[in-house]
Parts: sequence; structure tokens; C-alpha cells
Amino acid sequence: MATLLPEAFPLVRVEERAGRGRCLVAACDVPAGALLFCSRALGAFPASDSLCHECWRAGGPAEEGGVPLQRCAACKTPYCSSACQKAAWPGHKGECKLLRAFKLRDSPVPPHVWVPLLLSLRMYAAAPPGGAPPPRGPPGAPFCATLADVHSLTVVRRSEDAAAPPHAIAQAIVALGRRLELLPPAGALDDARAVRDQLAFDANNFSLTNETIEPVGYGVYPAAALMNHGCAPNVVLSYAFAAGGAPPGAPPTTQLVRALVPLRAGDELVHSYVDPTKTADERRAELRARYDFDCACGVCAAEAAAEAAAEAAAAAAAPAARAEDSDDAKRARLMVAQSR
Ligand SMILES: [Zn+2]
Ligand SMILES: [Zn+2]
Ligand SMILES: [Zn+2]
Repeated sequence: MATLLPEAFPLVRVEERAGRGRCLVAACDVPAGALLFCSRALGAFPASDSLCHECWRAGGPAEEGGVPLQRCAACKTPYCSSACQKAAWPGHKGECKLLRAFKLRDSPVPPHVWVPLLLSLRMYAAAPPGGAPPPRGPPGAPFCATLADVHSLTVVRRSEDAAAPPHAIAQAIVALGRRLELLPPAGALDDARAVRDQLAFDANNFSLTNETIEPVGYGVYPAAALMNHGCAPNVVLSYAFAAGGAPPGAPPTTQLVRALVPLRAGDELVHSYVDPTKTADERRAELRARYDFDCACGVCAAEAAAEAAAEAAAAAAAPAARAEDSDDAKRARLMVAQSR
């Protein structure tokens, strides 16, 4: 998978490490804040109705920096201008059919069920199965992944269990896509492959965040998906539509990966799959439920050691507590005896 990282970004390389799998590593010493690499979304889908679904600008009153949004007459998808609506139409056509047929925007079906289908449709539109890989671009241009890159991503173990909910959801999504003729034809993409793609998106999606770090959509970034989780992240992710910093002409959903702290050559790049400000128990529960692993990073190891020490201290204190209890019991019995 030599293609998975851009030759154009020499600060990072892909490595296979024991116990870590394929991961990203700093290729040299890097100062905090340096741009490590940036990549274009293979597919991205806004999960917010208050931003333009083409340029990702926030809607709202002009005095708050927003733009007025108009909506697709058929499915109510918001756009900031006729130009954005027109630019979005070739990709939106199929989605519009789905959104309209199932009145998804008004239905009680939660977005996490239907957004993955729309996201995979955008992915197939960007990199059709059997189509030519996207151009690599000049040095420094945002890296662009191929469909093969997506296929090479790890699917979480839980998802590989055919009886597990993610697998059932993926199968339902593929069946729905087939019925509505929204997926590429079976000759170009068979059902098993489509289910596998769906699971890969499910396990490797990124939350796109706005300038106040609120999640506003989902995107597929195969290069960044190689990064493992760490509760003390050493990189920070941002998106061109919210934070800028991408090369001129880069799409608004371009993802930028910067060093959060100074990195030494060989340091593995890690980012937090969950909100790092949550408590250790909350983080572990979420990582287990969503990604099927128990975090053993330095932060978790230190917390586990502290918890074990606290438990040992409590256990050492416990016999004394029981002794006090039994002293109390003796006193109580004495009181009862004396009262007779
Ligand atoms: Zn727009
Ligand atoms: Zn529409
Ligand atoms: Zn951890």
C-alpha cells in the first residue's frame, strides 16, 4: 500500500509495527503546528442542515458571518446560492431521490443510519469502481486517495462478525441502494464488496468539525484513517471550510493534519477517536462499543495503575473497617444485654 501516503508530504511515512498494525510515523523531527499532510475527502456528507451542502459555508444572519440558505424544492437540502445548488446537482440527483422517497429529513430514522449510504454514494461518485484513479496532483496538493486505499482500510473485528449489528445495517443499506438503483451496477460492485466498503466507511469515518470544533458532517480520508487512537493525541485535525490553511483551489472538505506537539523522528502519529476530555471510564466504554478495542495507551496505562493502587489501598483498609463494624456489633450487643 505504497500509494496510501502522498510522496508530496515527506514529513510522514507509513510503517507496519508489531502490535500496532499499519500506522503513520513522523519521518523526521517536526515542530508543533507543522502541517504533516492534507488530503481530499473521497466522500464527505454534511450532517447539519444549517450549512451549504456544496461549499460547507454556515448559514445564518449576515451579522454573525452566515449566509442565507435556500433549499432544494424536492428534498430540502440547503445551499447558499443557485451556483452551489447547480454545482451539487450531478452528485445530488441520486441522493435527492432517496431523501424524497423516504422523507428522510422528516423521518424518525436517525441520520447515522442513512448518512452512511449517502456518503458511500458520494464516494462511488468520486472514485467509481473500475474507473481511473484520481490524479495525484502536484507536490503539496492535497493527497487524493483511491478506491483501493479505502478497500485496504481495517474493518473493526466486531463488524466482521456477520451477526453483529454493523454488518446487518451495512447489508440493509446495500439492499436499499440496490432497490433504488443508486449503487454502481452489480457487475462493477458486487454485494459482498459493497457491504465490505460500507463497513470500512463505518469504522474509518471522520467527524468534520467547524471552527468551534462542533461535528457538522462525516468524511472518508483513507490516509488519516491509518492513524491509531491515543488518549493523548499528538496531531490535530482541521478542515479547510472551517479553518483554512489548505493550498489554493483545494475543496472545502480538505482535511489538514498538523503536529499538536513537537514530534521526534519515528514517533507514531495518534489522534483521539473519542472526545479526549471525557473521563477514562467514558472513553474506554465508547472505544469498546464503537471500535471494539480496549485502549492501552500511556494515559490509560497510568490511569489503570492509579486505579489498581487505589483498589489495593481500599482492600488493605477493608479488614480494619470490618473490625470496626464488628466492634460496633459488640457494643450493640452489649447495649442490648445491659438493657435487659
Ligand atoms: Zn455554497
Ligand atoms: Zn434534493
Ligand atoms: Zn487510552
